[in-house]
Amino acid sequence: MAYETLILGAGAAGMMCATRSGPGTLVIDHAKAPGEKIRISGGGRCNFTNMYASPENYLSQNPHFCKSAMARYTQWDFIELVDRHGIAWHEKTLGQLFCDGSAKQIVAMLVEEMKTAGADLWLQTSVTSVTHTADGFRVEVEREGKPQVLTARNLVIATGGKSIPKMGATGLAYDLARQFDLPLTDTRPGLVPFTFSEDRFKPLAGVALPARLSNERTSFDEALLFTHRGLSGPSVLQLSSYWREGEQISVNLIPETPVFDLLRSQRQEAGRKALTTELARHLPGRLVDFLAPKFDLKGRLADQSDAALRDLCDRLENWRLTPSGSEGYRTAEVTLGGIDTDALSSQTMETKTIPGLYAIGEAVDVTGWLGGYNFQWAWASGVAAGSAIAARR
Ligand SMILES: Cc1cc2nc3c(=O)[nH]c(=O)nc-3n(C[C@H](O)[C@H](O)[C@H](O)COP(=O)(O)OP(=O)(O)OC[C@H]3O[C@@H](n4cnc5c(N)ncnc54)[C@H](O)[C@@H]3O)c2cc1C
Repeated sequence: MAYETLILGAGAAGMMCATRSGPGTLVIDHAKAPGEKIRISGGGRCNFTNMYASPENYLSQNPHFCKSAMARYTQWDFIELVDRHGIAWHEKTLGQLFCDGSAKQIVAMLVEEMKTAGADLWLQTSVTSVTHTADGFRVEVEREGKPQVLTARNLVIATGGKSIPKMGATGLAYDLARQFDLPLTDTRPGLVPFTFSEDRFKPLAGVALPARLSNERTSFDEALLFTHRGLSGPSVLQLSSYWREGEQISVNLIPETPVFDLLRSQRQEAGRKALTTELARHLPGRLVDFLAPKFDLKGRLADQSDAALRDLCDRLENWRLTPSGSEGYRTAEVTLGGIDTDALSSQTMETKTIPGLYAIGEAVDVTGWLGGYNFQWAWASGVAAGSAIAARR
């Protein structure tokens, strides 16, 4: 069967591309349903974009690469699409936009847009082989147990990264990149919880508080969550994308509270109060109990010198920890790295060496922060490739 464009992957980027690439488009996915990651994203409400999305919110070996696509399809364009489909949404925090209802509305919207554009969708279809031919590409697939041969002038790699294999993630994008001699940057899990040896924080599992997490390169002020296995929560997920194995991190447990001044004034007014009792007014009680033996939190407020209080606050502001690792691709929201942006046109996402071959979305070495940025990249890169394909017809 001959198509104009084959898109491998009916995820966020692939579906968006198919809404733009024009007639003769077929989208192929091995999953039972399209957009499975969209469906489970944002706790089932899909954090579909971020009002403040800009190139600074992305990691890539070439931080300039995403600028062109992001400028040509912005968060406001996606919001306009969502509004046109009557999907109600709200800002949760920090510019993060979520559906009021269900993430399934975003999947349905994309499926409808694909239909309107005339694109076909084949699910439960696995890719057996891909070959470059004189006229384009020959793709062998297996659908409903039967082998089929497809040909197309354009082939779009939109099969995402390695994160959450249980959700259908495979390394197909990287295998195809190797096959076509496209360079790859190192891949690693991003937006992922930290683990610590010996169930170090087990007694604190479930405790959450606002915190500032930093390493030598960057810092994030968002919630911190202790888990059975280690540390999670938005501040941890954000920092994890900038963290390297073996590196120490700094946790500021009191980023927004002038605890030194408060402890000093309480010492004046209620000197008989236990130090731990006063601290539990500013930090979760279970955390104070956990820290007490480590930070030598004992005695009454009146017993604490200025120097001792300063020393305590310094420790609360700069608790040095070294994660033993991360939870890996099993729970990572994204894959850092991927198809090297040097191989692609930033205008069209077409490979520089093989005309008609495109790569978009998470498969490419562009990774966003937590907060709707990754979908915005999927939409923008999908539109860039889809529009370029349509314009060439
Ligand atoms: C739990 C979770 C929550 C998330 N929440 C958010 C959020 O709220 N906001 C946000 O911006 N980002 C979020 N993300 C990240 C976001 O989901 C991804 O960045 C985005 O989906 C990437 O889009 P994509 O189209 O490149 O890849 P995907 O959406 O992963 O799509 C790839 C598609 O390719 C298919 N595929 C893979 N291999 C093959 C193969 N061999 N053959 C055929 N088909 C194949 C897959 O089945 C899938 O449908 C979340 C991720 C996870 C895991």
